[in-house]
Amino acid sequence: MIKVNRVSPPSRLTGCKTIELTHQYAVDKSKSVWNKPYIRERLLEMSHDKCIYCESKLEEDSYLRVDHFYCREHYEEKVALWHNLLPACEKCNGKKSSLNVAIEPIIDPTNQNPSDHLSLVNCVLFGKDSLGRNTQKVLQLSRRFGETWWKISKAIHDKVDVLESKAHRVSKSKLVSDQEDFSSSVLGLFEMTSPKEPFSAVAATAIVQDRRTIFIVDALKGMGCWTDDHQALYNNIKAVALV
Ligand SMILES: [Zn+2]
Repeated sequence: MIKVNRVSPPSRLTGCKTIELTHQYAVDKSKSVWNKPYIRERLLEMSHDKCIYCESKLEEDSYLRVDHFYCREHYEEKVALWHNLLPACEKCNGKKSSLNVAIEPIIDPTNQNPSDHLSLVNCVLFGKDSLGRNTQKVLQLSRRFGETWWKISKAIHDKVDVLESKAHRVSKSKLVSDQEDFSSSVLGLFEMTSPKEPFSAVAATAIVQDRRTIFIVDALKGMGCWTDDHQALYNNIKAVALV
């Protein structure tokens, strides 16, 4: 789970339209008034086609569930309110169900930074506080994704392994072509944590928790090959890592 910036509402979801849709729902509760293509598209755009909670890729639009952070069962006045709508996968949406988040709060990644409340240790998610603990309890992310997270972490550690050897070799050879290759390989590792990638928080956590990362970063800096792109990606990695 990563912090996601709430984008502006779709242009068609004006204040008047929100009131109209809310009224339609009040009259007929069987109407999914929020399930409009323009709302779904904007939500997917906001999360890079990922579930806002678990970060799994919503490969096709049909996998998207429009989640009401404040559930429609208790807060029907918020059913079409843009700031209450989140893109979620079927499982996360189902786990959350009609949970009343005013009584049992969980993380809203558009409002809170998940890394302030969650930590990932050996592919098990822990809450740092009651908000984090309740989020894990409700969404059951460790149980659902432990194996996937382990595979991602292993892929990261394998890449770090290769880069560590490369750093030793390039430091000795001092060849510009080797340094350039090393530089782009480090960039490749960092790009695995792009917000567009599924489970990017897990990849970022694995990079931060691998002590060899510091050696690789220092080696690249020592060669004078550390660029603004490296720095920007590294800053993001440290910001989203669940440590
Ligand atoms: Zn999900």
